[in-house]
Amino acid sequence: MNPLILQIAVPSPLHRRFDYLPPLDVDVTVLQPGIRLRIPFGRRTTIGVLLAVSNESAIDSRKLKRSLEVLDDSPVISSDILDMVQWASDYYHYPVGEAFTAAMPALLRRGQQPAGTETTGWQLSVAGSAIDTTTLSHAARQAQVIALLRAHPQGLPRSAIDVPASVLRTLADKGWIENCNLRHSGGDQTVLASAHTLNPDQQQAVDTIRARLDGFTPFLLAGVTGSGKTEVYLELIATTLARQQQALLLVPEIGLTPQLLARFQRRFQVPLALLHSGLSDHERFTAWQQARRGEAPIIIGTRSAIFTPMARPGLIVVDEEHDASLKQQDGFRYSARDLAVWRARRLDIPVLLGSATPSLESLLNVEQGRYTQLELPERTGVAQQPAFHLLDVRKQPLQDGLSAPLLQRIRKHLDAGNQVLLFLNRRGYAPTLMCYDCDWVAECQRCDARMTWHQHDQRLHCHHCGSQRAVDSICPACHGSELHPQGQGTERVEQALREHFPDIRQVRIDRDTTRRKGELDRLLEQARNGEGRLLLGTQMLAKGHHFPNVTLVGILDADHGLFSTDFRASERMAQLIVQVAGRAGRHERPGEVIIQTCHPDHPLLQLLVKQGYPAFARAALAERRAAQMPPMSSMALLRAEASAADTAMEFLASVAKRIQAAGVRSVEVWGPVPATMERRAGRYRAQLMLQSGQRGELQRLLSGLVRQLETAKEARRVRWSVDVDPADTY
Ligand code: ADP
Ligand code: ZN
Ligand code: ZN
Repeated sequence: MNPLILQIAVPSPLHRRFDYLPPLDVDVTVLQPGIRLRIPFGRRTTIGVLLAVSNESAIDSRKLKRSLEVLDDSPVISSDILDMVQWASDYYHYPVGEAFTAAMPALLRRGQQPAGTETTGWQLSVAGSAIDTTTLSHAARQAQVIALLRAHPQGLPRSAIDVPASVLRTLADKGWIENCNLRHSGGDQTVLASAHTLNPDQQQAVDTIRARLDGFTPFLLAGVTGSGKTEVYLELIATTLARQQQALLLVPEIGLTPQLLARFQRRFQVPLALLHSGLSDHERFTAWQQARRGEAPIIIGTRSAIFTPMARPGLIVVDEEHDASLKQQDGFRYSARDLAVWRARRLDIPVLLGSATPSLESLLNVEQGRYTQLELPERTGVAQQPAFHLLDVRKQPLQDGLSAPLLQRIRKHLDAGNQVLLFLNRRGYAPTLMCYDCDWVAECQRCDARMTWHQHDQRLHCHHCGSQRAVDSICPACHGSELHPQGQGTERVEQALREHFPDIRQVRIDRDTTRRKGELDRLLEQARNGEGRLLLGTQMLAKGHHFPNVTLVGILDADHGLFSTDFRASERMAQLIVQVAGRAGRHERPGEVIIQTCHPDHPLLQLLVKQGYPAFARAALAERRAAQMPPMSSMALLRAEASAADTAMEFLASVAKRIQAAGVRSVEVWGPVPATMERRAGRYRAQLMLQSGQRGELQRLLSGLVRQLETAKEARRVRWSVDVDPADTY
């Protein structure tokens, strides 16, 4: 009889499972997929995940290595996640062992045991209960803990309090918080009723989904900005909790704002498991465990939270489902939205995708009857959709990116006591430093890109590789001294606005102003409470926020995206414009949106402004259909990069030959072409585009290809990767 063989996912760049013999003295029949084992691998030992037990191996069992140790009595990876990661590893052509690495909290990968239920936690002391948190404005995180514990009088486990240990220590030293025993009855979880009566559209959406909670149905909630989508999520999550089930909410990277959390905390006085990029390994592992044990009925997280296990899964919600940040852009290039739908199907539970600007992918799924669409066509309450104006700036002299008519409108709205939001998706002072004598421009030495001039540190920064240097004072080409900044970023606009509106408090939100921890929260609060009257920022400011008194939104430069080489550029631009515009007029006062553009007659822009996003999306989808571009076809990119020029191009040319040799006629091959920015951080990049009307054919081709490339000699000179359903093509 053959010995039993363990098939294990091992962290390694190879696209396969590895076979091992079981450890000595282990009863193989009790080993379940999803447990971890310590195994020898090369010259070291590592930790792998058991995928299956088999009684055959392609390798002679006498040559198989023996695994060393079983780390878990029962699976730490639940079966739905085990299946999902394997499926995703196949679909995205990413090595299965590394796919599991991406799907597991770091501490779990390193062998740490998930602990039992936490029995002690923190609560407010009598003194702490009396603290007025407004006196703690200088200590935002202490105030945050006090507010959180005030909402949870029965106390919270350490893992539910998302601050560094030092903050808790300080509070304990002050005598404001104290340790307590936690009761895990589930009975002390309070869910408050909605503060609003749902409007008929919201009610209908909720009722439709409520009637289908017992199985897999994908829903697309298409609701204009401010139409009350979040309220629909809250209501359905409340129902899920009442059914003793857990809900998982995925949000884009910058969607996880204090405002959203506060809303959840007000409504649900239950432990929330929060998973986002700012967590320490320990915090992440704890939140993961709370979800896995079912202690946290609600899990909220960015992209990678899709890999969070749930003891009693009931509902998955993906907010802003169109957002590009839901697709991982390097390494394991999965789409969290698509995995959410996959997982919901596997778990046989509903999945709700929500957006004011749904992706063309999801709209096509609705059109083809795979998703059920629910609509919220109106804003809640008295709020109206803002009015759009295209401002032709071809004949307007722009001063620091601002036209005179826009400045007038800003003044008018400020004089009326309202807030104004200006959007410019470019940080720094100026994107170019130029010599007026000879037209030399400052470029990055490691990228095919210009350096951005930053005023705060008087240096040139490359936004692509992070390198920086002092600002040149003399032109290196002609030795002249006429070096001047060209174009504008948020820093420059902020300065210009300060001159125009010296008495108006500004809030600028971009990556430079929010580098320090807690700073984004602080600035968003100033924007929300009206302290800041003029809000200026990049896309960090554009999405999801609710600033009730903003009545004017100015989009300083809408033209980026209209003529890009990327086929998704106009879709992204339209989504961004609608999302930014959605910050205007969310309250009683009506809003207006002014878009500065040099192409006011552009048909897609016209359509968007005159008829709105649904009309735009229909036209864009028709264009994609005509061109047979995604979502009407499947696409994959083979990307390659190398330190020498031409190597990546040569490699991809050889790949193209291999593909031609395979003779799959249903797959079209485009390229190779150098990437739009060929050199980045000193490496030369190129790509090969594969496209097919038959997803299955493309998938089979890619599977064969990655196996060949693993051992191909020419592949050793480059770093290559596959990107299935790419979010961008440059
Ligand atoms: P969205 O997620 O679509 O942007 P929200 O759910 O954030 O919309 O709702 C926008 C605003 O309207 C919020 O301030 C919310 O509290 C409020 N709101 C939501 N639903 C209702 C309702 N049925 N009646 C009154 N106000 C509501
Ligand atoms: Zn010069
Ligand atoms: Zn660079």
